[in-house]
Amino acid sequence: DRRPRIFSGMQPTADSLHLGNYLGALTRWVALQDTHEAIYCVVDLHALTVGPDPAALRERCRRTAAQYLAAGIDPQRSTLFLQSHVPEHAELAWVMSCLTGFGEASRMTQFKDKSAKQGAEASSVGLFTYPMLMAADILLYGTDAVPVGEDQRQHLELTRNLAQRFNSRYGQTFTVPEPHILKETAKIFDLQDPTSKMSKTSSSPGGIVELLDDPKVTAKKIRSAVTDTGREVRYDPVDKPGISNLLAIHSALSGRTVPELEADYAGRGYGDLKKELAEVVTDALGPVRERTLELLADPATLDDILAEGARRARGLAAETLARVYERVGL
Ligand code: ADP
Repeated sequence: DRRPRIFSGMQPTADSLHLGNYLGALTRWVALQDTHEAIYCVVDLHALTVGPDPAALRERCRRTAAQYLAAGIDPQRSTLFLQSHVPEHAELAWVMSCLTGFGEASRMTQFKDKSAKQGAEASSVGLFTYPMLMAADILLYGTDAVPVGEDQRQHLELTRNLAQRFNSRYGQTFTVPEPHILKETAKIFDLQDPTSKMSKTSSSPGGIVELLDDPKVTAKKIRSAVTDTGREVRYDPVDKPGISNLLAIHSALSGRTVPELEADYAGRGYGDLKKELAEVVTDALGPVRERTLELLADPATLDDILAEGARRARGLAAETLARVYERVGL
């Protein structure tokens, strides 16, 4: 396989992925399968950094994997697995930690933000070393490109630095991965607070369109979305963030351009936009939800897919780790 290799993953931190994950990541991952050799991971070791409930974590791993599959990740064409099933991730992460400067790690803005929220004393060391585990995830597979959102750019830059540092210290070993930054236009905002991004970890249940919501719930969330006191359906993220978000979602799912939609809704009210958008969203997500529920109802099949994915991933990862150990003198 001479196609460039990509690696990407999501944390199993919620029972359901949301529309932002779907449009900003999953649909892109599905499309990339045509042009790339793709490795998609449920990064459960990363989720451990925030001390989740064990039963919830186990359930969320399965649900996240089922949603990848339901969205169109094809386990025949791509490698799909749970990070903890491939122990080389944790092993290479240790080597990466020994290669990273304490000051360098301290400059990671995501750690600074997250630890500021939790309090530095309460934050786990795992939260601090998270970027080294992420570097290991990527470098284990000779990854050429990493499809990530803008928020992961700094971590990817660290990964590149670590790969180059290792290569110059110990000899050419790692492929230095390129960022494949997913376009900002795909950013989806919270329906109740359209200036903050839709997020699994936000505390705004009414603002998050979950892939596994009942379609009636989805429609209600869209009808209740925060807009503004105007009447004009116009794309203007600064002055009309709510309407702009609804237009962006519509456009991403219907394939129609924003100007087309603006023309279509000229002279009509926000109610029409919401009503029709509710249909567009439930039509798109309905089948994904149904396939997810089917997969979850058949645990043996899901287990088989994940075991096969882990077996394939381990084949690649073990080779890299053996080379790394040999290079560093272990
Ligand atoms: P969350 O904030 O929900 O925990 P993550 O940070 O785990 O999301 O992101 C998982 C993937 O989903 C990333 O590739 C990210 O770019 C994408 N993503 C997350 N939220 C959004 C959003 N609101 N709009 C677009 N893409 C998103």
